[in-house]
Amino acid sequence: MEMTYNRDNPFTAPLKFRRRLNNPASDKNVQHLVFDVSNSDISYKCGDSIAVFPKNNENETTEILHLLKIASETQVKLPFRGEKISIFSALREYLCITNLSDQFWKWLGEIETGSDMGSFINDKILHSDPECQVLAKSYSLLEILKKFDGHCKVEPSELVSKLRRLMPRLYSIASSPLVDQNEIHIVVGVVSYTNAIGNKRNGIASNYLTNNANIGEGIKVFVVNSMFALPINTKSNIIMVGPGTGIAPFRGFLQERQCMVNKGDKVGKSWLFFGDRNQAMDFLFEEELQTFKNSGILTNLNLAFSRDQENKIYVQDRIWERRKELWSWISDGAYVYICGNASKMAVDVENTLKKIAMELGNFSEDETNVFFKSLKDNRRYQKDVY
Ligand SMILES: Cc1cc2nc3c(=O)[nH]c(=O)nc-3n(C[C@H](O)[C@H](O)[C@H](O)COP(=O)(O)OP(=O)(O)OC[C@H]3O[C@@H](n4cnc5c(N)ncnc54)[C@H](O)[C@@H]3O)c2cc1C
Repeated sequence: MEMTYNRDNPFTAPLKFRRRLNNPASDKNVQHLVFDVSNSDISYKCGDSIAVFPKNNENETTEILHLLKIASETQVKLPFRGEKISIFSALREYLCITNLSDQFWKWLGEIETGSDMGSFINDKILHSDPECQVLAKSYSLLEILKKFDGHCKVEPSELVSKLRRLMPRLYSIASSPLVDQNEIHIVVGVVSYTNAIGNKRNGIASNYLTNNANIGEGIKVFVVNSMFALPINTKSNIIMVGPGTGIAPFRGFLQERQCMVNKGDKVGKSWLFFGDRNQAMDFLFEEELQTFKNSGILTNLNLAFSRDQENKIYVQDRIWERRKELWSWISDGAYVYICGNASKMAVDVENTLKKIAMELGNFSEDETNVFFKSLKDNRRYQKDVY
């Protein structure tokens, strides 16, 4: 019987392989990871995502327990897990210790500490003006405990009942099961920033996966099926826009089409727009993409490296430059895919595509919107953005 893996029943997949994809001198850190799913009956298709349960930083977890004077092995029960586990494991693997809820702050603010922590939480976090709250809410559990020297006695069972569940993070699958169904590849961009109170903060999952997890370590995962998928008719042409980590599903698409051709099937034309900051540093999967280009699987490859020249050039600028050919592909039935940054890139690309439809399709604004709606309805315009 096929096993269903999900949030409550993830598969523990060994981390098989990891390598940095861009040059170490780049100011970004993007890595390629492979999970071994051979001991599962996980199945997936190109375009699906994999949900990964991260672990909090080990030192941070240890320090929290040290400040609270709670022994790591203290057994606790979580509402969503049957058996008791150690509080160390609860804080490291199951609970969110960075973004704390209002309910948590309210609880922590009421604890007798002998320090000013309670009044700080009440005045600055719960009852100050919204701008100040944003700042104060940036405190992680460790940061607030450190600020008040950890003068705080909490019941272990109560602490774990007040923290939110640590949620899995999604990553677009960057491989085709036709190449090897026992492996799932992903591309992870490391999140690292300075929070509102001036402390360096690392994204939980991206840092766990790229820095802290060891090769061979079991990581809890499950596949999330997506509507983002290659056309059913393999002969359809596809246009893929995937700068940065947005390249991930398109590596899978190209692998899949290469496997089909190797078997003697016919596939449509493929066009990829890829971009990042610098060509010398950030051309992810450069060799593989050149090989796809040389084999003819990738018909067109257009690159936009924003910081290689004085005026920034983005994927939408390359799309605009190639608008005549692009419009003829779309008019002939091509499928359009966008993957990557939701807030800026996907919006700019969509606006550019609409501008092209208005200029070359002679559409009014209303007609353009109707045209894009029909593309979406026919699954010819798909986005995997985050
Ligand atoms: C469908 C889907 C597919 C995805 N595919 C990929 C993929 O292929 N590759 C990939 O790398 N990611 C992908 N992501 C994103 C991924 O799921 C995670 O969100 C990402 O890795 C960050 O998780 P994290 O745990 O490292 O960071 P977290 O610990 O969750 O921290 C991220 C949070 O930190 C805060 N933050 C981040 N930067 C700043 C800043 N500069 N200033 C202030 N606050 C900030 C924000 O609140 C942000 O939500 C995808 C997401 C979705 C929904």
